[in-house]
Amino acid sequence: RNAVLAAASCFCLAGGAIAQHKTISQRVDSLMRLMTLKEKIGQLNQYSGKNVTGPVTDRNVNMLSDIKSGLVGSLLNVKGAKDTREIQAVALQSRLKIPLLFGLDVIHGYSTVFPIPLAESMSWDMDAIRLAAEVAAEETAAAGVHWTFAPMVDITRDPRWGRIMEGAGEDTYLGERIAKARVLGFQGERPGGINSVMACAKHFAAYGAVSAGRDYNDVEMSDHQLWETYLPPFKAAVDAGVATFMSSFNTINGIPAAAHDFLQRKVLKGDWGYNGFIVSDWGGIDQMIHWGYVADKYDAALKAMRSGCDMDMVSRSYLENLEKLVKEKQVAIQLVDDAVKRILYKKFELGLFEDPYRFCNVEREEKAMSNPRHTAAALHVAERSIVLLKNEKQLLPLQKGRQKIALIGALANAKRDLQGNWIPNNDTSKVVSIYEGLGKYLGRDANLVYVKGVDVKGADTSGIGEAVAVAAASDVVVMAIGETWDMSGESKSRAELSVPGQQEELFRRVYATGKPVIVIMLAGRPLVFNEIADKAHAIVYAWWPGNEGGNAIANVLFGKYNPSAKLTVTFPRSVGQVPLTYNGYKTGHPLSSSPNMLYKSGYIDMANTPRYAFGHGLSYTSFAYSELQLSKVSMQQRDSVILSVVVTNSGRYTGEEIVQLYISDPVASIVQPMKKLKGFRKLLLKPGESATVSFSISAHELSFYDKDLRWIAEPGRFKLMVGSASDDIRAQADLTLL
Ligand code: BGC
Repeated sequence: RNAVLAAASCFCLAGGAIAQHKTISQRVDSLMRLMTLKEKIGQLNQYSGKNVTGPVTDRNVNMLSDIKSGLVGSLLNVKGAKDTREIQAVALQSRLKIPLLFGLDVIHGYSTVFPIPLAESMSWDMDAIRLAAEVAAEETAAAGVHWTFAPMVDITRDPRWGRIMEGAGEDTYLGERIAKARVLGFQGERPGGINSVMACAKHFAAYGAVSAGRDYNDVEMSDHQLWETYLPPFKAAVDAGVATFMSSFNTINGIPAAAHDFLQRKVLKGDWGYNGFIVSDWGGIDQMIHWGYVADKYDAALKAMRSGCDMDMVSRSYLENLEKLVKEKQVAIQLVDDAVKRILYKKFELGLFEDPYRFCNVEREEKAMSNPRHTAAALHVAERSIVLLKNEKQLLPLQKGRQKIALIGALANAKRDLQGNWIPNNDTSKVVSIYEGLGKYLGRDANLVYVKGVDVKGADTSGIGEAVAVAAASDVVVMAIGETWDMSGESKSRAELSVPGQQEELFRRVYATGKPVIVIMLAGRPLVFNEIADKAHAIVYAWWPGNEGGNAIANVLFGKYNPSAKLTVTFPRSVGQVPLTYNGYKTGHPLSSSPNMLYKSGYIDMANTPRYAFGHGLSYTSFAYSELQLSKVSMQQRDSVILSVVVTNSGRYTGEEIVQLYISDPVASIVQPMKKLKGFRKLLLKPGESATVSFSISAHELSFYDKDLRWIAEPGRFKLMVGSASDDIRAQADLTLL
């Protein structure tokens, strides 16, 4: 390895020849002194390299010749040891031989596909979430890619928005914890590790609040909502050392995020002391013309650079205009230099100047992609991401035996759909379908008949008759329905949250056979399915569980894994209730306790309650809560108290419980939600076993942003609640802050 290192440093005249013992900042400065303005601007330019070696078509840009001329700092969408090496070699022919950064959307796995990020969040298991990111990083790095455009840390409260699948749900506290786990998973503890990649906290900011849930739409947002709900996970990513940020497509109160001076320069790079770089989203800079914020690309480059956007993803606005902007004194050279330094710093930190290939080669790549440990990790995480929503009369777990199972629904035999949206490789060869997973689990006992019934989309009901016949001849029905992989994700907003096509009709007819029906729902978002929710005997929400989905579902159905996941988003009863979250306010006329609906902040045609609440998720066992204790009933601002509770597995199976701590501040200078999640623990208990769970509560947990955006805790009485779900509080206590 040392020999490789020594040899590699010869590649890079500019970086490598500069003495190794200098600090990175000194090496960056030395390199900067050698660079022309054009070369500096080149570092700020990112192309999509999908067809980089193909014919020159894309807007007549000859990418390879631009790379050779030092006009490109980064490429996205180039992957694989062979291709990345080949193109890096071209960059090394440029005058200063500055290596390229290769970036890619590795959102939930590279070759080993994990559950979609939203599903992973349901595990509330930071080790599992981190593991998924670690495995993804190892494979991504082995494929020659240095940088993933993940994690998406956008909080969202709107399941119409298709990108809800990429995030960690609706809650800010959980969002902070998961942001940290993912950043550490991708990047490792220290930058530059050979099996790690740079992470990217995106999309800065408030993208999850797009009006009407329509992707790319405007965002209208109060300051306190922005600070209280949407910014904290970004701050958590900074604190975890995230290398890069991506700005969002949306406007925030009329200002496009890519030119948001306050957020990028004042908050992120100023107050938060962030020293990484910010990349725009795809064409986010010249999209400002379309928004009507700037007149042309010159103006767009000016506004974006002044407001702190360091790298231009694909729009060429910087490449075409920055030189002129500097010469015309519209943009200070110091701003350009600062952006270049931030990018070069990351290249040095990654070790690209020691080895521009980062020890990447085809053998290493093949080995990484066929690592059985990765498959085991995908199964581990998938099991922990599956939510048991309903289990009437303990129908689940099924017992292994010769019972005849009717497996119905297009998704029961699907592979690509189990992977979900946002995967870098179109490879379904490693996917285990539900049909295969059940067949494998049951082995010789398998007495399984599969019939599709209807497609996921479309109006054709001609297959329902056969499905009904198969169901009628079975002992139990397992139906797998929901969304195809392309129905949630970027630009996949939906106005309806219904189960698509004729799948509900299929359920209705199968249910009418009188057989017990277990519904496995696969989707990228919470769907609305009231009839199924009322009638089905059991409901397993499996999201898009990834390559090991079929095995994980079989393990859950038969109790080899006792489900432990809990919802991190509220499931509404109707799309008309959206946005609906667990942490709403006490609203309406004080007389609303009277049965007269007119006084209530509500609807005349529907309750305000969700179908399934945040934090809900069943297990095959049950848990009892007792002995809630608070170390003292009042405390000073600098104090903390310990809240403890005993949790006992009161059922028959070993299982995991996610104990949730909520706090409410009944009287405050900014009206506070009825409860806010402020802590949780996941614990594994054998039947009859008990454990004491304790939470430390300081003024921090009692604080909020006041009208001057100061993070403060106001003296007064607080309510502390511990429970198994946001709508299943088991014990509570009062605490007074003096
Ligand atoms: C998405 C980003 C993504 C980028 C690069 C954009 O359209 O909004 O999340 O990282 O494309 O693929």
